[in-house]
Amino acid sequence: MEKIGTRGGHNRQCEGASAIINEVTEDRNVCAAMNENLKNAGDTVVNCTPENCGENEDLNYGTDTANNNHVDLFVPIHFNNTYTNYNGAIGSEIWINPSSSISVATGTRILNNLQALGFKNRGLKNGMHLHDVRATNMPTVLVEVCFVEATEDVELYKKLGADVVGKAITDGINGKVGSHAPIIINKQASNVTIPETRVNNSIAQLQDECNRQGFSNQKVDGFNGTNTLAGCPLTKFGANGNITKWIQKRLGFPTNLQTGYFGDITKNAIIKYQAAMGLNADGIVGQGTWTALLR
Ligand SMILES: [Zn+2]
Repeated sequence: MEKIGTRGGHNRQCEGASAIINEVTEDRNVCAAMNENLKNAGDTVVNCTPENCGENEDLNYGTDTANNNHVDLFVPIHFNNTYTNYNGAIGSEIWINPSSSISVATGTRILNNLQALGFKNRGLKNGMHLHDVRATNMPTVLVEVCFVEATEDVELYKKLGADVVGKAITDGINGKVGSHAPIIINKQASNVTIPETRVNNSIAQLQDECNRQGFSNQKVDGFNGTNTLAGCPLTKFGANGNITKWIQKRLGFPTNLQTGYFGDITKNAIIKYQAAMGLNADGIVGQGTWTALLR
């Protein structure tokens, strides 16, 4: 009997991935099934899924709730997205702290169970750049169930349903190997190369936008690295476009204030943010402020 913290990634105010299916809708469906199964198995469930709020608040709510309740294991549920459209299967992956043996063992069991259901097993990944993995005091397994744009992933997920997928994850948490027979989806040939994937949609969006505007020519992989920071332009009062919009989203502006226009509201929010982060509070987003924003 264990105390398990579960969390559906993102929320309606800061949406996650969306293509054939919607991440926020489905991660909550899977969490609901997991919570039910965990309770039936005698585990204590701590619901770490926030209500609607900004991106930072969303992330902090999950890890604070897990830490404050001293859960034994933290399990955030996500659905992945790399392409606009993808004809075929991409699969499941789990992000962990590789030095945590409990995370390795638990993540492996969950992936094996998802593979047994028919999902491609993309393996365990080093998630030390992710807030959920870094900011928790206990083993954390961040499950990316499948890709929302991959036709075969979604077809399989829909055939199985969130209850079966949630059960497979729960069985993995509790040390069991699932017994569900795999569902075979008709494979269609695909010659698209699958890049190293990313979980942090917002980093990939920014990388893409910086490339689009000619500030960089970097790989859009969702991993914040030196090329990402180097590609972020000095952004200040008077700017207008998707980079400012990204900053507004990152600062947790409500959707109606994510206008893309860098006016007084944005400048004041940046000044406040810089002061809180111990940066020079000049209202201009340069490399120092970008470094903080990209974290
Ligand atoms: Zn996600």
